[in-house]
Amino acid sequence: MKIITSIFDLNKEIKNYKNVGFVPTMGGIHKGHISLIKASQKKKSKTIVSIYVNPTQFNKKIDFRKYPRNIKKDIISLKKLNVNYLFLPSTKDIYKFKTRKFVLSKKDKILCAKFRKGHFEGVLNVMNRLMSIVRSKDIFMGEKDYQQLYLIRKFLSKKFDVRINSCPTIRTSDKIALSTRNKLLNKKSLKKASDIAKILNKIKLRSKLNSSKFNLLLSDYKKELENKFDIKIDYLEFRDEKSLKLNNFKNKFRLFVAYYINNVRLIDNF
Ligand code: AMP
Repeated sequence: MKIITSIFDLNKEIKNYKNVGFVPTMGGIHKGHISLIKASQKKKSKTIVSIYVNPTQFNKKIDFRKYPRNIKKDIISLKKLNVNYLFLPSTKDIYKFKTRKFVLSKKDKILCAKFRKGHFEGVLNVMNRLMSIVRSKDIFMGEKDYQQLYLIRKFLSKKFDVRINSCPTIRTSDKIALSTRNKLLNKKSLKKASDIAKILNKIKLRSKLNSSKFNLLLSDYKKELENKFDIKIDYLEFRDEKSLKLNNFKNKFRLFVAYYINNVRLIDNF
């Protein structure tokens, strides 16, 4: 595996390859990331993984500082997976050139965009930069961050003529969606996160049978979960899988959740 730390070196290295799959990450490599890498390796002859904890997408400085980083361990994991290139850019390099700014419309200010001001503007900004550097025709991203996937498809897939390959959420055996942020949770919180995931999964399954009733019940479930697990839920909403509009249960839908457990914010969808 070649480790590349500058845009200049990356350009030199990959300009001759047309068949490179791109897996952008913020590190703390886990089985969720690994599933994206494997999906890329199945489809493309070379895979480039980036690790960059992007400061502009954190709406709280403390959250950025606390974000788990373990580059040595990540390098060992990625080498074992036979990743071809690991791109570790610096903030100076990433933000040295000017690009357009992204502004979300009122329609897009839902779910996490409503509760984390500036977060997706930061995500779109850095993805625009990374995509213009790497220029891959295939990017691999997780459904765990469903709204991110939706917005990147909406704002960037046409601009770069790129296929955004979405990969299903990988969970632990006790149903917690894998996430680098889980490293910030103690045993008790992990047990709660597992119980919450199981309950939400059940709600989703039952809602398929009697949907209209479940839409009405969601605010009750929200209060119940907050009291039972001592968590603060930002949102618990059924939304259309394609448009992310509030759900009328005519099309495929998902149950979206974001909550704080011990000051750590987790997101998931079922
Ligand atoms: P992150 O490092 O959290 O920014 O995530 C990098 C990529 O991995 C994003 O496309 C995420 O959606 C994806 N990802 C994170 N967690 C999971 C998971 N549990 N299952 C599948 N993909 C994931």
